[in-house]
Amino acid sequence: MATVAAATSPAHAAPAHAAAKRVTVIPKSRHIPERSCVACGRKAAKGELLRVVCTPAGAVAIDRTGRQNGRGAYLCRQAGCWEKALTRRSLERTLRRPVSDADVNLLKQNLIETFASAAANRTPGGPGPDTA
Ligand SMILES: [Zn+2]
Repeated sequence: MATVAAATSPAHAAPAHAAAKRVTVIPKSRHIPERSCVACGRKAAKGELLRVVCTPAGAVAIDRTGRQNGRGAYLCRQAGCWEKALTRRSLERTLRRPVSDADVNLLKQNLIETFASAAANRTPGGPGPDTA
């Protein structure tokens, strides 16, 4: 009577390459362009600031898209900074062009609308532009 000793091999003794490579997807850290407020000098991401643009056509407006052509100036979304900047002189200095009182008024109007629509958090249905 032979007792068969079942030679059980030690389980999985093979030197497994511990090459458990984890594929880590590194999110592309995009460089966020910073701009500084022309009134207080605070640096912030472009999206945080409002841009005043002087279009090639010679108009001064708030650039809500941030992509309008023309020389631009960035400002905090704070009334204080705008009060400081919305004087003809500082606008002229920043935009390097003569700015008329009408331009300033238009800009102020523009600003009020921008703040108002931001507060209402909805896009206005498109009120016709006030002709100055
Ligand atoms: Zn500021």
